[in-house]
Amino acid sequence: MPPLPNRKPTKRRSAADQDKIIVEALRGVGRPVSAYELIEQVRGQGVTAPPTVYRALQRLIDDGLAHRLESLNAFVACSHPHHANKAVFAICDACGTVTEFDSASAIKALQTWAKSAEFQVRSMSLELRGRCGRCVG
Ligand SMILES: [Zn+2]
Ligand SMILES: [Zn+2]
Repeated sequence: MPPLPNRKPTKRRSAADQDKIIVEALRGVGRPVSAYELIEQVRGQGVTAPPTVYRALQRLIDDGLAHRLESLNAFVACSHPHHANKAVFAICDACGTVTEFDSASAIKALQTWAKSAEFQVRSMSLELRGRCGRCVG
């Protein structure tokens, strides 16, 4: 067997580059987007393969730089990093505004329950659905 060439194809972007492109696209949009919309956003920047985008999103989620909104099947840039899998969201059904906030007490209560039930938490997604203050007022 000849040795594998270790030269990378020149057009290929590194995982770190892909993550940067994806997170910047998410921040730029400033609202939750579907993976499909995100792929459209980054198409011009050399990231086109859906599996690449999904893998980058998963890394960003694992690193706490992005979140998946389960009820919208969408992704959003984290507005306060360093809290992977512990975000709380309020989603307005009228205007679509998504507000991310911290609720240490709610998270603590759920973790306490999980511990007592010996349930190993892989991820936690808390989403409030309703109307934001602007839409109510
Ligand atoms: Zn966050
Ligand atoms: Zn609203």
